[in-house]
Amino acid sequence: MMDYQEIKPKFKKAYPIVYQAKRIIIGGFGKNTVYDDETGAVEQVFKMIDGQYTIAQISKRISQQYTQFSEQDVVELIEDLNSERFIEDSELTGSGILSDYDRERYHRNINFFSSFIKLSKNKYEVQKKLKNATAGIIGLGGLGSHIVYDLAGLGIGTIKAIEYDKLDLSNLNRQILYNNDQIGQSKAQLAQKRIHDFNPEINFEIYEKQISSTKQITDFFSDVDFIILVADRPKYLMARWANEAAVKLNIPMFCAGLEAQRAMYYTVIPHQTGCVACWQNSVANRDDVSTLVLREKEYLNLLGDNTAIVPLVSTVTGMINAEILRYLTGIGRVQAAGNLIAVDFLTMRTKVIEKWDLAETCAVCGGKHFGEN
Ligand SMILES: [Zn+2]
Repeated sequence: MMDYQEIKPKFKKAYPIVYQAKRIIIGGFGKNTVYDDETGAVEQVFKMIDGQYTIAQISKRISQQYTQFSEQDVVELIEDLNSERFIEDSELTGSGILSDYDRERYHRNINFFSSFIKLSKNKYEVQKKLKNATAGIIGLGGLGSHIVYDLAGLGIGTIKAIEYDKLDLSNLNRQILYNNDQIGQSKAQLAQKRIHDFNPEINFEIYEKQISSTKQITDFFSDVDFIILVADRPKYLMARWANEAAVKLNIPMFCAGLEAQRAMYYTVIPHQTGCVACWQNSVANRDDVSTLVLREKEYLNLLGDNTAIVPLVSTVTGMINAEILRYLTGIGRVQAAGNLIAVDFLTMRTKVIEKWDLAETCAVCGGKHFGEN
């Protein structure tokens, strides 16, 4: 890594700076940071943080002009601005990491990532992680439509999608990848074309057969980094197969679904959180009302004429994509690991409605953390 003193810091564009008599306010989005500035020295430091000067040059000049400020004081002030994530290294331009096209196309993403990182990190590397990532998604219905469109917008390099269904008129209240004049056509092929038109840089591969085993999923998804499960048919079997595939491939699985007036999502990270089978084991012996209702629903195989309203679809898919983004970039922690989180239509509030652990007796994941025998 480059010598810290030789970094040329500059303020990130996202944070407004307000200069007042004897104080400076910076930030403003939920949190203001105030710097007292009796002598005007802090203002001079701020003015020099414009990408032209090294930290060594700034601390030297300020300590010469303001005798009460030592070079170390100035370095500490800059370090404080760094720990608040207000400044970045002006010489990290992203060339050699991303193409000119990518830097332009993903400019706002990169600004967003920048707001989370410190001087030592390169914001362009974060976008590069997305470009290098491969997503595997099961289902291109309402949830799947929104998710792959957003993943293509984010710049996930490769998306592999499983969907065998044909477009139906009743899909068009929420399935945004498809058009009115395409009824009866293959959703997978329509999605592939739509995503290609939207972002030609994305590699979008499709598998158009009905899933009836874990092996089909592990074969097609052998090189993906994570699985997104948003298919609801066959309801319980699909979750079982996808879960087995995620455990076998040892990759995380992000799942979302709709249920009446709620949308829900959860995340499985094999050997770190309980898997779907761990969860099912944990509720199998429970006798509360919701478990009984679930079992009845499974027994009756209640499917088909589901409720689905687009605000819940777009909300929960936004949440799942944020979850994926946190996972891939390392910016923030995964929120729904081993948790089922529900969004309620009437309030749009979220709530953890189920939690489960690794089950020692789990036949699928073995109930083991990494490193255990
Ligand atoms: Zn398990």
